[in-house]
Amino acid sequence: MSVLSILSDLGAIYPTVFTTDFLRYVIGAGGVYLIVNLLLSRHLAGRKIREQSPPLKQIRREIQASFRTVLIFALNGTLIVYGAGFGVFTIYTDAAAFGWWYLAFSTLVLIVLHDSWFYWAHRLLHYPPLFRLFHRLHHLSYNPTPFTSYSFGAGEAVANAIYLPLTLLLLPVHPLALLIFVIHMMLRNAIGHCGYEIFPANRQRMPLFDWVTTVTHHDLHHSHAGYNMGLYFTWWDRWMGTEYPHYHAEFARVSRPVDWWPYTTAVAILVVSVILGFSLAAASESADQNSEPRRGIDEATQAIAGSGCNRTSLHYALSSMSDREYPVVVPASLHQWVAQWPNRE
Ligand SMILES: [Zn+2]
Ligand SMILES: [Zn+2]
Repeated sequence: MSVLSILSDLGAIYPTVFTTDFLRYVIGAGGVYLIVNLLLSRHLAGRKIREQSPPLKQIRREIQASFRTVLIFALNGTLIVYGAGFGVFTIYTDAAAFGWWYLAFSTLVLIVLHDSWFYWAHRLLHYPPLFRLFHRLHHLSYNPTPFTSYSFGAGEAVANAIYLPLTLLLLPVHPLALLIFVIHMMLRNAIGHCGYEIFPANRQRMPLFDWVTTVTHHDLHHSHAGYNMGLYFTWWDRWMGTEYPHYHAEFARVSRPVDWWPYTTAVAILVVSVILGFSLAAASESADQNSEPRRGIDEATQAIAGSGCNRTSLHYALSSMSDREYPVVVPASLHQWVAQWPNRE
């Protein structure tokens, strides 16, 4: 197998992964901006963290930087799909293989480990020489927006990206676990930069779930860069003494009571849509076991196996997978074929 053919195979996978990553950013960051910063901005005016709004020039810069981040994340995803084909990473498609408990457990592990990875990588990125090289761009957004969520220097994007392949070397995962992980990552990231405190408070105006990082928590990182390095949870900042000392006072200041009905309606619509989406995906998954698309994949795989060629056929097989499947899903038959690949060359 030549270097050229490997590059060509990677090039065949890349566009699909790029499109998925790009749409995730557009829908995640754009969706949070549309709902929180535009549609609900009046209702949430009392919970706006800063008086001033970020300049449009900043948003333009953030989107440009995010585009480069998506290019890097897509390269990472492409390597994961390619590596999964060779059995370097175990991405199993039969949920029953490890059981539903394992699926839930592995999803939690992905999220909790990512929080730890992010905290320590982030602390390293604040080491002055590394900060200037890799992390400064993110902090140019002193007053962040949902689009700041992917506004990274190239080095920072790589530091964020390599978490997944490193973890997948040891942790077998189902595509659904990966999907929940990336959706949660995108949404928490975009919400954490939205500039409005939308996390619930108790009667004392303390965070209702104090172990979860609120919008104020990460917003304070952008105004006081030495504090609040955590991503999803407050654990590491508290254990390591890096939480902003007046965090709770700041949270109390911005968590003013608001008229919640538009917010709860928007959240309810979002939750129902996600549940409906998952149910439809699960229903179509079981219905498709013997249907045309499924047969299409099997036929494509057989054709590939018979043809002995590789990159065009791999591209054909991947693109013949129905749209409902996350691109990391490699059908078992294709997976087996790719595993035998070196013997075919
Ligand atoms: Zn940030
Ligand atoms: Zn930082």
